[in-house]
Amino acid sequence: MSDTLADNKTTAAPPSDGLAVLESRRSAAETFGIPLAVLAEVTHRCPLQCPYCSNPVELDRGSTELTTDEWKKVLGELAELGVLQIHFSGGEPTARKDIVELVQHATDVGLYSNLITSAVLLTKDKLSALADAGLSHVQISFQGNEPVVADRVAGLKDAHRKKLEVARWTRELELPLTVNAVMHRQNLHQLPNIIQMAVDLDADRLEVANVQYYGWALKNRAALMPTIEQIEETSRIVEEAQARLKGTLAIDYVVPDYYALRPKKCMGGWGRQFFNISPAGKVLPCHAAESITGLEFESVRSNHSIAWIWQNSEAFNRYRGTGWMPEPCKSCEFREVDFGGCRCQAFALTGDAGNTDPACSLSPRHEEIFKQAEREAAAHQDRFIYRNFAGGTLETDDRQDERQDKRNGA
Ligand code: SF4
Ligand code: SF4
Repeated sequence: MSDTLADNKTTAAPPSDGLAVLESRRSAAETFGIPLAVLAEVTHRCPLQCPYCSNPVELDRGSTELTTDEWKKVLGELAELGVLQIHFSGGEPTARKDIVELVQHATDVGLYSNLITSAVLLTKDKLSALADAGLSHVQISFQGNEPVVADRVAGLKDAHRKKLEVARWTRELELPLTVNAVMHRQNLHQLPNIIQMAVDLDADRLEVANVQYYGWALKNRAALMPTIEQIEETSRIVEEAQARLKGTLAIDYVVPDYYALRPKKCMGGWGRQFFNISPAGKVLPCHAAESITGLEFESVRSNHSIAWIWQNSEAFNRYRGTGWMPEPCKSCEFREVDFGGCRCQAFALTGDAGNTDPACSLSPRHEEIFKQAEREAAAHQDRFIYRNFAGGTLETDDRQDERQDKRNGA
């Protein structure tokens, strides 16, 4: 039976409380507001090989990606539901030849669009065409503030210079710019310079994003894990910069899980405020959700509408709300504050996504992961496993030697 938007009698009411309210007359499930912003991972292809990439280790191949017409249908359906903003992400979204056409379609159906990009494939003409198509915001990821470290982390020569160039074009085109800097043990010493780089680029916002340890980052945890001293210093630097740059640069920062006492409210709670669509069309409660084995995720290629998937699919309802929680979450006063933390992290570290996130100090596994983080950070195992379609490539010693030579001025 077809279960399209039209015959599901699902309607979108005006936004309230940050969410557009969905009303489905046939749904027995609790009603949840449709998110106002949705992440569209249009491809997993990417010229970079970041060792902390948030894409799943099993990447979607180009041949499985939604077609241009399928993405256009998705964009139209999202706009009808009351979604207001679409984040085009990846992999590298500009690896798709139709990215200008997709941005234009988003504009045509009334969606604001944000491009989350590594920037290295963009030309000035392509960026101008995206601006003409109605692109409303650009977010560029940076791997550091100077080429030797940044290009090594990205696994691509000349990447950093190219990113700086595209960031300047972005502002020349008067598009708002966010600098996204993913921080870890091997680049945290650059943070003051990264903050200054964001100011010099005239960015509106800087996201100081600590690595989240699942997928590729879990494979690389020993090479990325910061020391507790680094984290304390980072918090101090961020607080000072937030006060000093108020009104000039907004800085977002969250303490990394392994050194926190309570977990983050991951994705605002599973299936509450967020979903993303994978390159092959799976509708996911979080971009790492496919790392949880045993959960079946519905596709936009199925007979179900996106509204039905959001409200009724088993994967979204499995960890929604608080009813699924075991102790200590079940009787905890914070259960509706953090919703038990991150399901992907619980799965990665305990083998069961239904456990309390071990980032929480009340988890029986917390002490163990905290100690492990300390041990790994102290061991100085610095070699990366680069992210790629081959399942990962171990960094060669040559590359590390080259980096050391450059640092030594040779
Ligand atoms: S994190 Fe790096 S490798 Fe992954 S999609 Fe972004 S730029 Fe590409
Ligand atoms: S026990 Fe559960 S609900 Fe309570 S703080 Fe920890 S993760 Fe959050």
